[in-house]
Amino acid sequence: MTAQVIDGKAFAAEVRGKVAEHVTRLKEKHDLVPGLAVVLVGEDPASQVYVRSKGKQTTEVGMKSVEHKLDADTSEADLLALIDKLNKDDSIHGILVQLPLPKHLNEDLVINSLDPAKDVDGFHISNVGLLGTGQKSMVPCTPLGCLMMLRHHHGSLSGMDAVVIGRSNIVGKPMAQLLLGDSCTVTIAHSRTKDLADVVRRADIVVAAVGRPEMVPGDWIKEGATVIDVGINRIEKDDGKTKLVGDVDYESCAKRAGAITPVPGGVGPMTIACLLANTLTAACRANGLDEPEGLTV
Ligand code: NAD
Repeated sequence: MTAQVIDGKAFAAEVRGKVAEHVTRLKEKHDLVPGLAVVLVGEDPASQVYVRSKGKQTTEVGMKSVEHKLDADTSEADLLALIDKLNKDDSIHGILVQLPLPKHLNEDLVINSLDPAKDVDGFHISNVGLLGTGQKSMVPCTPLGCLMMLRHHHGSLSGMDAVVIGRSNIVGKPMAQLLLGDSCTVTIAHSRTKDLADVVRRADIVVAAVGRPEMVPGDWIKEGATVIDVGINRIEKDDGKTKLVGDVDYESCAKRAGAITPVPGGVGPMTIACLLANTLTAACRANGLDEPEGLTV
């Protein structure tokens, strides 16, 4: 079997198109422009690239984009004061604090100081609890993007065996909650899992979110399974140049899987598309308007 490639780049463009259409309608009918504020503390080069890309895509779908770049030595009090200001600003519907924060700042404290309704990353403890209890929440962007792709490919996921490799708060755990919400039988595997190969071999859906280049070989994949590769790892090739690879060995997994996401061009582009979708959802909720269909759970 050769797997069908799930084209995250094309799907993300579709999602952004839907968001842009809805944003146009909001402007015309309600004079409402969704606004996203991104807060970046320090000068981490990868974070700067993400923030630039988020700002550009926010503007492209017709939303207001605001960037707050703070010095690496910004105090916790100053950061919390900015968040308080953004929480109270009616023109801002989504706030994203780019992680990781410099070591002297308490990430949990900062994230939990966001208004949960504006927490478009879905990391606030209230949103984690709402998602875990099957209530309306802000859903973390990367797992939301994975779920959208899975629903698009399969329709219903009900009754499928899903294995999520990785138990982080930003990917693994919320991914497992979302799959459970769609009635999968979910196993969360992690660094202490015994016989990971055996666990993965049972899965109809494998979501790999580990951060270890190409660690899942093709012979762990059940024939016809769907493989969603969240990992983004930069490795050096034989010629000294670098390339991005995922957490699964694409070539061997694609031979056995029914469908697979590539790296790059799979989960990555969906993450920012879902950030825009979440900002739109937040703007609709804040104004008592119907939420766009198919852009949240
Ligand atoms: P993390 O480091 O917080 O968590 C990694 C998880 O993998 C841990 O729960 C750990 O238990 C598990 N793990 C480690 N070694 C393992 C092993 N040998 N076997 C099984 N499990 C093991 O990472 P994260 O933030 O969840 O990110 C995971 C990967 O996803 C990274 O490559 C990251 O760059 C990528 N990522 C991509 C996007 C995107 O937009 N595509 C978004 C977030 C993260």
